[in-house]
Amino acid sequence: MKIIKGTGIGTKKASGILRFYRSNKSSLNNKFTTYENEMKRLEKAISGVKKSIESLSKKAKTKIGNEEAKIFEIHMMLLEDEDLFETVTYEISRGECAEKAISEASEKYARMLKALDDEYLSERANDIKDIASQLINELSGGENKEFIHTSPYILVADDLSPSQTVSLDKDKILGFVTFYGTPSSHTSILARAMGIPALVGVGEIDEKYDGKYCLLDSENGEIIISPTENEISIFKEKEKEQNRIAKEHESYLKELINKPAISKNGHRVLIYANIGSEKEAEGALLNGADGIGLLRSEMMYLSSDRYPSEDELYYAYKEAITEMKGRRVIIRTLDIGADKQIPYFNIPKEENPALGYRGVRICLDRIDIFKTQLRAILRASVYGKASIMLPMIVSEKEIIKCREILEECKNELFEENYAFDSKIELGIMIETPASAIMSDVLAKHVDFFSVGTNDLTQYTLAVDRQNPKVSYIGEQNHEAILRLIEIAANAIHKKGGWIGICGELGADLTLTQKFVDMKIDELSVSSPYLLGIRKRVGECL
Ligand code: PEP
Ligand code: MG
Repeated sequence: MKIIKGTGIGTKKASGILRFYRSNKSSLNNKFTTYENEMKRLEKAISGVKKSIESLSKKAKTKIGNEEAKIFEIHMMLLEDEDLFETVTYEISRGECAEKAISEASEKYARMLKALDDEYLSERANDIKDIASQLINELSGGENKEFIHTSPYILVADDLSPSQTVSLDKDKILGFVTFYGTPSSHTSILARAMGIPALVGVGEIDEKYDGKYCLLDSENGEIIISPTENEISIFKEKEKEQNRIAKEHESYLKELINKPAISKNGHRVLIYANIGSEKEAEGALLNGADGIGLLRSEMMYLSSDRYPSEDELYYAYKEAITEMKGRRVIIRTLDIGADKQIPYFNIPKEENPALGYRGVRICLDRIDIFKTQLRAILRASVYGKASIMLPMIVSEKEIIKCREILEECKNELFEENYAFDSKIELGIMIETPASAIMSDVLAKHVDFFSVGTNDLTQYTLAVDRQNPKVSYIGEQNHEAILRLIEIAANAIHKKGGWIGICGELGADLTLTQKFVDMKIDELSVSSPYLLGIRKRVGECL
């Protein structure tokens, strides 16, 4: 038995097998050798994976049951699927290495199955991805031989980059444990959005624990690896009780779902959701979101290996906007750089990336990319109510330049006979001290502000949001942050605009009264927190 401490995210518990995350992505860039050799490698990998599936299937039948073992039969069928094999072969004939060929072919195949709108086939799309990752793993030496994602697990990683995070199979993750990271790092943000327990900043864990059973308690900030029978039974009892209370709470909260959040003194707060992709809009709506306060559009860039086209972005935005049925959807323009690096952007390595080439600075330098986004948002804006939000603003000049480019896009679309919302709202994030201090000047140029407290905390308190050694400084709801929010709120209200908060502090129920006092108009949080915030606003004076 071993106990490891860290910072808990959320209050939930989880138990299951620990799995260490190793990315397959690097091997996708392997050099193509010859057609014959890549084919030989492919065939060897298929036979290796078949063998390990056979052995796992036998184990599953004896230890778990025939029903659960069926998944292995499906995997075996997929490995023998001729169409899939031909697609991989075709990719190899185009000069791709076996790893890349499998990845490309499985993506294509999975997309095709998903498009058929058939639940069973859609499920198979996930199996194809599963098989592909096993084959790629086998090709790179089979490090993860036993790591077959057939049952959910607790993920262990040093620190997941945002692009690794978006590529995870989120349905299979019971919880996260990361060596590094802090409550405002992107892994924690994702854990909150998924409503799953997590533990960050635990320090290094020996890989010998891979595959071991563990108990994860995010409320107490600890995991117990290889627990005793007694520890398991105490944990399960507590978990049962916690689930019972959570169920009661949930059904009570559900009654609030479509009621406006109004404080006792009559201040209405719109309760919005933060999402990373159009697919999450449905969940936001189910949890009663009044709108989307932050669509982190960079997630679409992070999950791709090339620049998304205007049409691809347009379809994604259209889906989110349509799903929200007339409720506001705030699309933040690309916010990469710092911890969100994307290989195909070829951003040179920087000494201090958080203070460097990121957010709107990249968009104002790479205007082609910026315009692709703005045009896609404008085109999608006819399907409901869209707003545009600019990240990392520090000066008036940046907004003026962005507005000029926005007008240019509108003119182009008009000439090309596209319909769009010509009065689309433009807002900025308040996430640098400069933007809060200068908010009276900046407010003249925009319709709204949204406070990004994650970065505002990092830049105001000089606390790297990725560094667990100093995160305690940022966790104390420092008065400096609250004062900056208040300055910005007063400035925008004076100009007749409105203000929201989309950083993690927005979900802190101990601050809701303060936000109501400041007349904050909107709080945007991860979907699982929406109802709790709605309830809390109603209790505020
Ligand atoms: C923030 O900085 O508070 C924010 C919402 O943006 P992100 O977490 O994506 O940097
Ligand atoms: Mg930010």
